[in-house]
Amino acid sequence: MLFELKSVFLNDGETKKCSYGLELADLEIDGIFPFVSPVTVTAEASNRASLVTLTLRCQYSFIRPCDRCGTPVQDVEEKCFTHPLVQELVDERNDDYIETPDFILELDEIVISDLILNYSQKFLCREDCKGLCPKCGKNLNDGMCDCNRTQTDARLEILRQFMENE
Ligand SMILES: [Zn+2]
Ligand SMILES: [Zn+2]
Repeated sequence: MLFELKSVFLNDGETKKCSYGLELADLEIDGIFPFVSPVTVTAEASNRASLVTLTLRCQYSFIRPCDRCGTPVQDVEEKCFTHPLVQELVDERNDDYIETPDFILELDEIVISDLILNYSQKFLCREDCKGLCPKCGKNLNDGMCDCNRTQTDARLEILRQFMENE
């Protein structure tokens, strides 16, 4: 989606808004395709005292497997990103700024890079997810398995043997 911002850059106090759906079903992150339905993007650019700022509001639903138990979780999320816009970068090292020499922004690229950079490293179905039993693979959120008891017994057995050898 192209966002034309000449009027915003040239007029102090000017605001321009646009909203659209961005299809990201083909976007693969860490081997999965999280964006099951189009991301609703609301972009707003405003000029305050000649400083032009772009605000991107992204609303989407996603499916992601829990990093601990592997259960796929479907949820909705809203994230907001802001970027100062400049016509020309004076200092090349400042990555925060987005250059818009011809007053036209390609929003898709910015949204995709924001979403990827803010994709959380770790994702759990719930904060206290118990994960899977390393022995039988049972999802321990659904209740304990029999190996658990044996595991405790095994540890006690080691302790018992250790004490005997003392
Ligand atoms: Zn989990
Ligand atoms: Zn088990």
